[in-house]
Amino acid sequence: MPDGIAEILQQLILTTRILANEKVLDAFGHVSVRHPRDPQRYFIPRHRAPELAEIADIVELNLDSEPVRPTQFRLYSERVIHGEIYKARPDVNAVVHHHAHAVLPFAISGRELVPVFHLGAVIGKVPFWDQRDEFGDTNMLVVKPEEGASLARALGPHWMVLMRRHGATVAGTDLRQLAFRTVFGCHNAALQSAAIAHDTGRVDQLSAGEQELTEAGQLSPRPIERAWDYWVRQVEKAGLMPAKAKRRAATAAKISRTTAPKRKPKKRR
Ligand code: MN
Repeated sequence: MPDGIAEILQQLILTTRILANEKVLDAFGHVSVRHPRDPQRYFIPRHRAPELAEIADIVELNLDSEPVRPTQFRLYSERVIHGEIYKARPDVNAVVHHHAHAVLPFAISGRELVPVFHLGAVIGKVPFWDQRDEFGDTNMLVVKPEEGASLARALGPHWMVLMRRHGATVAGTDLRQLAFRTVFGCHNAALQSAAIAHDTGRVDQLSAGEQELTEAGQLSPRPIERAWDYWVRQVEKAGLMPAKAKRRAATAAKISRTTAPKRKPKKRR
């Protein structure tokens, strides 16, 4: 993972745009990254549709998901998902929560999501979490620290957890691995649903040995770089590339400024 703050913030925005462009995120969902030098903190954009987030929208939170310095920004109500997973899993440095339509049939039916093609190996075992089990009727949002902690317990040592009637949360050792697992996890879900629709009586899946061997290969630098470069190109083609991060100092200054940039009054013709 890059240790420069400016670089990590740039990569956070780029990952967010990749996941929006790949139809994982829409108006909702959010991506975060752990602070590269202070494991007790993480970065996440303020409350807005993820594709619209800019570097200046990023806030720094502690693992209780409270801002480390005062901010006027409205924050995602479900940010405890991120903070509680970072608390429970020191090996996790990037998290996304999403409601991608590809995974929702599994979150709704309770059917197990399993690796059904080689690139899907990266999802590994995908446990379920049902907020209702511990918390009864809620507004379905993961907003209390204990709700986030419960989700983190359900994730356990795995990398993706399905949230009943809601969506999914995915973890990674860094943002690129997170993007890889998230995008191919959605492709895997769509393919598994399509295979079920074939109704041949049997949906094949990777054996435990195939899953293990394939995952190790897919999570090596080359496939991740190759996929990342492809998704960055798609973001470029969509005209969604974030402005290049300036020097760290400039970025830090920008973040500490207030929300609305001053605009020159429009000249009359
Ligand atoms: Mn949600």
